[in-house]
Amino acid sequence: MLTVISFVFSPIAENTYVLYNEAGDCIIIDPGCYFGNERRELEQYISENRLLPKYLLNTHCHLDHVFGNKFIHDTYMLEPYVHSNEQVVLENAGLAGLMWNLPFDNYTGGLQFLREGDVIRLGKDELKVLYTPGHSPGHVCFYCSAQHFVIGGDVLFMLGIGRTDLPGGNFETLVNSIRTRLLVLPDETIVYPGHGVSTSIGFEKANNPFLQ
Ligand SMILES: [Zn+2]
Ligand SMILES: [Zn+2]
Repeated sequence: MLTVISFVFSPIAENTYVLYNEAGDCIIIDPGCYFGNERRELEQYISENRLLPKYLLNTHCHLDHVFGNKFIHDTYMLEPYVHSNEQVVLENAGLAGLMWNLPFDNYTGGLQFLREGDVIRLGKDELKVLYTPGHSPGHVCFYCSAQHFVIGGDVLFMLGIGRTDLPGGNFETLVNSIRTRLLVLPDETIVYPGHGVSTSIGFEKANNPFLQ
Protein backbone atom coordinates (compact mmCIF):
# COMPACT_ATOMS: atom_id res chain seq x y z
CA MET A 1 0.00 0.00 0.00
CA LEU A 2 1.40 3.35 -1.03
CA THR A 3 0.95 6.58 0.89
CA VAL A 4 1.05 9.67 -1.32
CA ILE A 5 2.48 12.89 0.12
CA SER A 6 2.72 16.14 -1.81
CA PHE A 7 4.74 19.33 -1.43
CA VAL A 8 4.29 22.59 -3.30
CA PHE A 9 7.68 23.99 -4.28
CA SER A 10 9.32 26.85 -6.19
CA PRO A 11 7.95 30.18 -7.45
CA ILE A 12 6.12 28.12 -10.12
CA ALA A 13 4.14 26.26 -7.41
CA GLU A 14 4.95 22.77 -8.63
CA ASN A 15 3.68 19.64 -6.87
CA THR A 16 6.43 17.27 -5.75
CA TYR A 17 5.27 13.80 -4.70
CA VAL A 18 6.72 11.26 -2.31
CA LEU A 19 5.17 7.79 -2.38
CA TYR A 20 6.13 5.33 0.35
CA ASN A 21 5.17 1.85 1.50
CA GLU A 22 4.94 0.13 4.91
CA ALA A 23 8.62 -0.80 4.79
CA GLY A 24 9.59 2.86 4.42
CA ASP A 25 10.86 2.52 0.87
CA CYS A 26 9.90 5.55 -1.19
CA ILE A 27 9.74 7.07 -4.65
CA ILE A 28 10.36 10.76 -5.29
CA ILE A 29 8.51 12.14 -8.31
CA ASP A 30 9.29 15.53 -9.88
CA PRO A 31 11.39 17.11 -7.14
CA GLY A 32 10.70 20.77 -7.79
CA CYS A 33 12.44 22.01 -4.64
CA TYR A 34 14.17 25.22 -5.69
CA PHE A 35 15.17 27.06 -2.53
CA GLY A 36 17.40 25.68 0.21
CA ASN A 37 14.56 25.67 2.73
CA GLU A 38 12.42 23.61 0.34
CA ARG A 39 15.21 21.07 -0.06
CA ARG A 40 15.63 20.89 3.71
CA GLU A 41 11.87 20.40 4.12
CA LEU A 42 11.89 17.45 1.71
CA GLU A 43 15.03 15.92 3.21
CA GLN A 44 13.67 16.36 6.72
CA TYR A 45 10.37 14.71 5.84
CA ILE A 46 12.25 11.73 4.45
CA SER A 47 14.61 11.38 7.42
CA GLU A 48 11.99 12.02 10.11
CA ASN A 49 9.75 9.33 8.62
CA ARG A 50 12.76 7.01 8.19
CA LEU A 51 12.12 6.66 4.47
CA LEU A 52 14.61 5.15 2.07
CA PRO A 53 14.42 6.72 -1.42
CA LYS A 54 14.64 4.01 -4.08
CA TYR A 55 13.59 5.85 -7.24
CA LEU A 56 13.72 9.34 -8.66
CA LEU A 57 11.07 9.64 -11.38
CA ASN A 58 10.28 12.58 -13.68
CA THR A 59 6.94 12.84 -15.46
CA HIS A 60 8.75 15.25 -17.77
CA CYS A 61 11.70 17.60 -17.61
CA HIS A 62 10.40 21.16 -17.66
CA LEU A 63 12.48 23.22 -15.27
CA ASP A 64 9.89 23.32 -12.49
CA HIS A 65 9.85 19.51 -12.32
CA VAL A 66 13.62 19.05 -12.24
CA PHE A 67 14.83 21.93 -10.04
CA GLY A 68 15.72 19.37 -7.34
CA ASN A 69 17.01 16.52 -9.53
CA LYS A 70 20.67 17.22 -8.80
CA PHE A 71 19.96 17.65 -5.10
CA ILE A 72 18.09 14.33 -4.92
CA HIS A 73 20.76 12.61 -6.97
CA ASP A 74 23.58 13.93 -4.81
CA THR A 75 21.75 13.25 -1.54
CA TYR A 76 20.39 9.76 -2.25
CA MET A 77 22.58 8.56 -5.16
CA LEU A 78 19.62 8.06 -7.48
CA GLU A 79 19.63 8.50 -11.26
CA PRO A 80 16.47 10.08 -12.69
CA TYR A 81 14.08 7.86 -14.67
CA VAL A 82 12.75 9.75 -17.71
CA HIS A 83 11.35 8.96 -21.14
CA SER A 84 14.08 9.19 -23.78
CA ASN A 85 12.13 11.92 -25.62
CA GLU A 86 12.62 14.12 -22.54
CA GLN A 87 16.42 14.00 -22.65
CA VAL A 88 16.59 17.10 -24.85
CA VAL A 89 14.11 18.89 -22.59
CA LEU A 90 16.28 18.10 -19.57
CA GLU A 91 19.41 19.31 -21.37
CA ASN A 92 17.66 22.62 -22.10
CA ALA A 93 16.25 23.06 -18.59
CA GLY A 94 19.28 24.99 -17.36
CA LEU A 95 18.91 27.51 -20.19
CA ALA A 96 15.17 27.71 -19.52
CA GLY A 97 16.04 28.56 -15.92
CA LEU A 98 18.06 31.54 -17.09
CA MET A 99 15.27 32.66 -19.44
CA TRP A 100 12.69 32.47 -16.63
CA ASN A 101 15.05 34.22 -14.23
CA LEU A 102 15.14 31.05 -12.12
CA PRO A 103 18.75 29.89 -12.49
CA PHE A 104 19.53 26.49 -10.98
CA ASP A 105 22.18 23.80 -10.96
CA ASN A 106 20.84 21.38 -13.59
CA TYR A 107 21.42 17.63 -13.32
CA THR A 108 23.78 16.43 -16.05
CA GLY A 109 24.61 12.84 -15.01
CA GLY A 110 23.36 9.49 -16.26
CA LEU A 111 19.70 8.70 -16.89
CA GLN A 112 17.46 5.65 -16.74
CA PHE A 113 14.92 5.46 -19.53
CA LEU A 114 11.22 4.72 -19.19
CA ARG A 115 8.92 3.29 -21.85
CA GLU A 116 5.18 2.94 -22.21
CA GLY A 117 4.04 -0.10 -20.22
CA ASP A 118 7.09 -0.28 -17.94
CA VAL A 119 6.28 -1.16 -14.35
CA ILE A 120 8.06 0.51 -11.42
CA ARG A 121 8.03 -1.88 -8.47
CA LEU A 122 8.38 -0.83 -4.84
CA GLY A 123 7.97 -3.99 -2.79
CA LYS A 124 4.51 -5.32 -3.67
CA ASP A 125 3.29 -2.02 -5.07
CA GLU A 126 3.40 -1.13 -8.74
CA LEU A 127 3.25 1.97 -10.89
CA LYS A 128 2.64 1.53 -14.60
CA VAL A 129 4.21 3.98 -17.05
CA LEU A 130 1.72 5.64 -19.41
CA TYR A 131 3.23 7.53 -22.35
CA THR A 132 1.34 10.83 -22.60
CA PRO A 133 3.13 13.28 -24.94
CA GLY A 134 1.69 16.63 -26.02
CA HIS A 135 2.60 18.99 -23.18
CA SER A 136 6.19 17.88 -23.72
CA PRO A 137 7.55 15.27 -26.15
CA GLY A 138 8.30 12.49 -23.67
CA HIS A 139 5.80 13.10 -20.90
CA VAL A 140 4.75 10.06 -18.89
CA CYS A 141 2.21 9.45 -16.11
CA PHE A 142 2.56 6.87 -13.33
CA TYR A 143 -0.57 4.79 -12.75
CA CYS A 144 -1.31 2.73 -9.66
CA SER A 145 -4.25 0.53 -10.67
CA ALA A 146 -4.48 -1.22 -7.27
CA GLN A 147 -5.12 2.08 -5.46
CA HIS A 148 -6.83 3.95 -8.29
CA PHE A 149 -4.54 6.94 -8.66
CA VAL A 150 -2.28 8.40 -11.30
CA ILE A 151 0.62 10.83 -10.89
CA GLY A 152 -0.29 12.95 -13.87
CA GLY A 153 2.35 15.65 -14.28
CA ASP A 154 1.22 18.50 -16.54
CA VAL A 155 -1.23 16.55 -18.74
CA LEU A 156 -4.61 16.87 -17.03
CA PHE A 157 -5.54 19.43 -14.37
CA MET A 158 -8.77 20.16 -12.56
CA LEU A 159 -10.86 21.76 -15.34
CA GLY A 160 -7.74 22.28 -17.43
CA ILE A 161 -5.03 20.63 -19.50
CA GLY A 162 -1.30 21.24 -19.91
CA ARG A 163 -0.07 24.12 -22.06
CA THR A 164 1.11 23.17 -25.53
CA ASP A 165 3.01 26.31 -26.57
CA LEU A 166 6.41 25.18 -25.26
CA PRO A 167 8.99 23.43 -27.49
CA GLY A 168 7.82 19.93 -28.39
CA GLY A 169 4.24 20.66 -27.33
CA ASN A 170 1.24 19.83 -29.53
CA PHE A 171 -2.44 20.33 -28.69
CA GLU A 172 -3.85 17.43 -30.75
CA THR A 173 -1.19 15.08 -29.37
CA LEU A 174 -2.02 16.15 -25.82
CA VAL A 175 -5.77 15.67 -26.20
CA ASN A 176 -5.13 12.30 -27.84
CA SER A 177 -2.91 11.27 -24.90
CA ILE A 178 -5.61 12.28 -22.43
CA ARG A 179 -8.31 10.40 -24.33
CA THR A 180 -6.35 7.20 -24.97
CA ARG A 181 -4.32 6.96 -21.75
CA LEU A 182 -6.23 8.76 -18.98
CA LEU A 183 -9.96 8.86 -19.81
CA VAL A 184 -9.88 5.08 -20.26
CA LEU A 185 -9.00 4.66 -16.57
CA PRO A 186 -11.81 3.98 -14.05
CA ASP A 187 -13.84 7.08 -13.15
CA GLU A 188 -12.79 6.89 -9.50
CA THR A 189 -9.09 7.22 -10.40
CA ILE A 190 -7.58 10.18 -8.53
CA VAL A 191 -5.33 12.42 -10.62
CA TYR A 192 -2.43 13.97 -8.71
CA PRO A 193 -1.32 16.75 -11.06
CA GLY A 194 1.89 18.72 -11.39
CA HIS A 195 0.12 21.92 -10.36
CA GLY A 196 -2.99 22.69 -8.34
CA VAL A 197 -5.38 20.39 -6.52
CA SER A 198 -6.08 16.75 -7.24
CA THR A 199 -9.12 15.70 -9.26
CA SER A 200 -10.60 12.49 -10.65
CA ILE A 201 -10.99 10.99 -14.11
CA GLY A 202 -14.79 10.88 -13.73
CA PHE A 203 -15.00 14.55 -12.73
CA GLU A 204 -12.83 15.68 -15.64
CA LYS A 205 -14.72 13.49 -18.11
CA ALA A 206 -17.94 15.21 -17.09
CA ASN A 207 -16.73 18.78 -16.54
CA ASN A 208 -13.40 19.54 -18.20
CA PRO A 209 -14.14 22.12 -20.94
CA PHE A 210 -11.23 20.89 -23.08
CA LEU A 211 -12.61 17.36 -23.24
CA GLN A 212 -16.25 17.89 -24.17
ZN1 LIG B 1 5.51 21.11 -17.74
ZN1 LIG C 1 4.89 22.07 -14.49
